[in-house]
Amino acid sequence: YEVTEEAIDDLPETDTDVKLILGDPARAFSLANLPVDGVGLAREEFIVTSHVGYHPLELLERGEEERFIDALRTGIAKIGAAFYPNEVVFRLSDFKTDEYRNLEGGWKYEPAEANPMIGWRGASRYYDEEFREAFRLECEALRRVREDVGLDNVVVMVPFCRTPEEGERVLELMAEYGLSREEVDVWVMAELPSNIVLADRFAELFDGFSIGSNDLTQLTLGVDRNSEQLAPLFDETDESVTRSIGSLIEEAHSHGRPVGICGDAPSTIPEYVEFLLDAGIDSISVSPDVAVETLLTVAELEEA
Ligand code: PEP
Ligand code: MG
Repeated sequence: YEVTEEAIDDLPETDTDVKLILGDPARAFSLANLPVDGVGLAREEFIVTSHVGYHPLELLERGEEERFIDALRTGIAKIGAAFYPNEVVFRLSDFKTDEYRNLEGGWKYEPAEANPMIGWRGASRYYDEEFREAFRLECEALRRVREDVGLDNVVVMVPFCRTPEEGERVLELMAEYGLSREEVDVWVMAELPSNIVLADRFAELFDGFSIGSNDLTQLTLGVDRNSEQLAPLFDETDESVTRSIGSLIEEAHSHGRPVGICGDAPSTIPEYVEFLLDAGIDSISVSPDVAVETLLTVAELEEA
């Protein structure tokens, strides 16, 4: 399949949006030629690693917070501009402690955890007494892209949010740091069993859910996603996972909230797309190399 203008014109419209998973700002403009409905997951970690390189607290300590904000803003703006006016969902940093330690100066601020995958990551960092200053810089970069640059297609997503109370604290801080819910849509990742069980409560707080099938599978089945030994047991098609997804979609829709997916499952398991459509998913995010194929599959399934 060649992404020419004619080929794109020939593609059927789909009811279910197909979006990209993206990290690298350098690829944004070329990938924006793909006939997709925006970006469902833009990973900020990638931008911090490639454009900043430093642990945010290290730059704060050096009095160089502008350096962090500016570099992050540049990366965010590149992706936001490339896909404008289609929506791009920027996920707030979800580095694990071992990954933060790899950033310049990171070892000073990060504990050495035995299980970083279920350690100090995601939402719980953002309201931490010390780390919230780093979170403020991220919010400021996003705010500037939206308000100063004018890219209002840029919206935000909170990863690894363990409880609704945690969600409330994060949303309060975001409002304080210039990203109020009145102005910007805020999505939450559905990637912990608690997100599924308490979907009604998360639906009251956030504008939509994006299923992180990687973490959801890991935590539902109790299988470390990095373990080679357990790899055969890591199965996104397990009934415990698929039923969780089905029940989330039902509950979210009954509260008027859309549900997308941005984990790897639909990019790597072809039959997953059919399951998701049957379950009533609103959008599917995939890696760029399978975007067109996914679009054609969705169109075919919707027609059948
Ligand atoms: C996921 O958990 O499915 C996800 C998309 O997030 P990450 O892989 O970055 O943890
Ligand atoms: Mg995840």
